Amino acid sequence: MSKPYFYSILSQELSSIKEKDLFRFMRTIRSTQGPVVNIDGRDIILLCSNNYLGLANHPELMNDAIKAINRYGVGSGASRLISGNMGPHEQLEQDIADFKQTESALVFNSGYHANIGIISAIANTDTAVLSDELNHASIIDGIRLSKANIFIYRHMDTSMAEDILKSLEQKKKLIVTDSVFSMDGDIAPLKELAELAERYDALLMVDEAHATGVLGKHGKGAVELFGLSGRVHIQMGTLGKALGVFGAYAAGDRLLIDYLINKSRPFIFTTSLPPALCSASRKAIELIRNHPELREALKENIKIMRDGLRNMGFEISDAPTPIIPVIIGDSKKTMEFSSLLFDRGVFVSGIRPPTVPPGTSRLRITVSASHTKEMLYKSLDIINTVNSILR
Ligand code: PMP
Repeated sequence: MSKPYFYSILSQELSSIKEKDLFRFMRTIRSTQGPVVNIDGRDIILLCSNNYLGLANHPELMNDAIKAINRYGVGSGASRLISGNMGPHEQLEQDIADFKQTESALVFNSGYHANIGIISAIANTDTAVLSDELNHASIIDGIRLSKANIFIYRHMDTSMAEDILKSLEQKKKLIVTDSVFSMDGDIAPLKELAELAERYDALLMVDEAHATGVLGKHGKGAVELFGLSGRVHIQMGTLGKALGVFGAYAAGDRLLIDYLINKSRPFIFTTSLPPALCSASRKAIELIRNHPELREALKENIKIMRDGLRNMGFEISDAPTPIIPVIIGDSKKTMEFSSLLFDRGVFVSGIRPPTVPPGTSRLRITVSASHTKEMLYKSLDIINTVNSILR
């Protein structure tokens, strides 16, 4: 079969990606997502997963998923509005609303779906959307899809955000931000943003993907950490990170959820989550509520890793989050660093543009409550060795 002209263009683009050291590839894990994973027959310490509490292979979650499979089967068969709305979906939504202290919640199939689904439903050409420059790609794509007027403010710069708000003609205003930034691990100034939203009559949407289960006294997220319950209109979060499963949610007032059920295309036009995943997520929320020691263990591990990297001379903040960027700068060097770590038994993937701005390629190190201290100290030793080789 002859190849269409189109292929030659794709091939040229791929070559150009390779020349810039930006070609992406995947490693294959042949074990559970534990703190140590099996790759190519070797046991490797995993330092780049978002499974922050080690729940992805927790026996109680697995057990509940299996029980749900036995009762409900594997697939949901249709979208929620057709025949795919099953008991576990609604029970999970009730649990999320209770956990997040909101009137209501709606489950989406992933965080990506949730962000594009929420923003594209509520914003349109008459809306001004203010977005932090380091917001997650799914937020950016949601804004693009909505065709709203986008105003990007400098990272965490609330005075720039205020200047923009002052100048707006639009009456429909949305401020949207990650609460914990996915590639930097720093925390948005939510209190100031909530004040701005109130002062300028804007809606505030917060993406708690990396904060749910991690931040706040009860693991409810950054909204809890800052005492902002009732002042954030839309709390979006994911079920695939600290909760260890898959899926996402929007939590907020009943009005908002009813609106999303009626208008959000990524909610309406997709087969709903397998019910067993909803059951596993319910168990994750229960464990997060009842086992603060999971968060304590995570906190200790965050400190060990941040202190250890800082002692090697890397610039590391003391943000209380498990996402710890080690900025290398150059993409090629970042990938060499990652590859030498891998050879020595530590898996940290390199993060390059366009995921992060040019010149800021990095190792995005993440820790989990399930890492033992020995694993962390061993990893630090290996990172130190590779750092001296590459210096
Ligand atoms: N928001 C943020 C801040 C994220 O980091 C991610 C995932 N990396 C998402 C949304 C998307 O979530 P999901 O992986 O469930 O699609």
